[in-house]
Amino acid sequence: MITKREVIEQAQKLGFDDVGFTTAHPFEAQQKVLTERAENYSWLREKGMDLMQGTDPKNSFPEAKSIIVLVDTYFRHAFPSSLAGKFGRCYLDDDRVTRGGLYRRTKAFRDFLTANGIATKIPSNLPHRLAAARAGLGTFGKNCLIYSNKVARLSSWIVVLGVVVNHEFEPDQPTSVEGCPKWCKSSCIAACPTNALTGPRTIDPRKCISFLSYYGEGITPLELREPMGMWIYGCDRCQNVCPRNEAWLAQDLPVNKVVEERAGDFELTKLLHMDREYFMQRIWPHMFYMSADELWRWKMNVARVMGNSHDSEYISHLVRVFAESDDLRVKGMAGWAIGQIGGSQAEKELNKLLYESIGMPREEIIQALKRVTR
Ligand code: SF4
Ligand code: SF4
Repeated sequence: MITKREVIEQAQKLGFDDVGFTTAHPFEAQQKVLTERAENYSWLREKGMDLMQGTDPKNSFPEAKSIIVLVDTYFRHAFPSSLAGKFGRCYLDDDRVTRGGLYRRTKAFRDFLTANGIATKIPSNLPHRLAAARAGLGTFGKNCLIYSNKVARLSSWIVVLGVVVNHEFEPDQPTSVEGCPKWCKSSCIAACPTNALTGPRTIDPRKCISFLSYYGEGITPLELREPMGMWIYGCDRCQNVCPRNEAWLAQDLPVNKVVEERAGDFELTKLLHMDREYFMQRIWPHMFYMSADELWRWKMNVARVMGNSHDSEYISHLVRVFAESDDLRVKGMAGWAIGQIGGSQAEKELNKLLYESIGMPREEIIQALKRVTR
């Protein structure tokens, strides 16, 4: 049977930045957290993700004996400026659908284990970050993220992937503790625009912009529209403000060429007016948490961002989407966004739209008019 050293060498050969080993014991502390905060996580069950089931690797892989955790740095190249601050950095490089580099390297790693008589499984509901800390690969931040102990300049710009195996490897020394410097005044908690971080290592995912941007139901509540700012899909704010990430952020990183080539597809006006075909061909393969049936949410998010941009160039586009969309949530947000941009042109357009609208969008326009005229 292959040794731990041979597994590490293979992971390194495949380009993984770090690798660690832990037992396949249940994550009991996480079971307690999920029980205590059941209300915060019940929506995930509705999305088909059973986190409690994932806390015991044996639930999905009864022969589980160890977990090998792989670490990959996902922010080696910068986003082009048109995308920065609008899309979470991890998403455009997520190649699970396009089957790019990380997908292929993970498959090659599993093939290597299989060829050596070891069966593997990567349960999507495994608490991968907890497994990484238990394998001695990182410590936690108060923002609930994991920070590498060795690579990526000790930052949180890492993907951690737990591979459950049916062979026992000697576990590494856990580092399952918070690693924030005492002098940090919890910048992440203070900077979270929607108060999703309710305390150290405590998050209400239902308030997190990432969740709201791809799973939020109904029109985004009024009080969250401005705090959600320019984020369309995901949010990196609690990582951007973190001093533990400064060393990585201070680098002059080259622009991600692959993402740069696609940047034109993600222009706000194209996203606002896209049809299903455009979405499926150009957007979904890279950002796939929403299906083509949820185009309304994409458009609603983009309309909100246009409003928060305060750029009057977008008013005509918002008027157009208001007229063309059948979805009340998109119409309502377009009305709000025109009011958020403000100014005399916005007021003129809102007055015109007032006579063409009924129901919730009309109410949004009435409220928007109050704001532009005050
Ligand atoms: S901002 Fe401060 S408290 Fe928050 S994760 Fe970073 S170091 Fe920790
Ligand atoms: S990702 Fe954004 S919204 Fe979510 S906890 Fe961090 S700062 Fe708050």
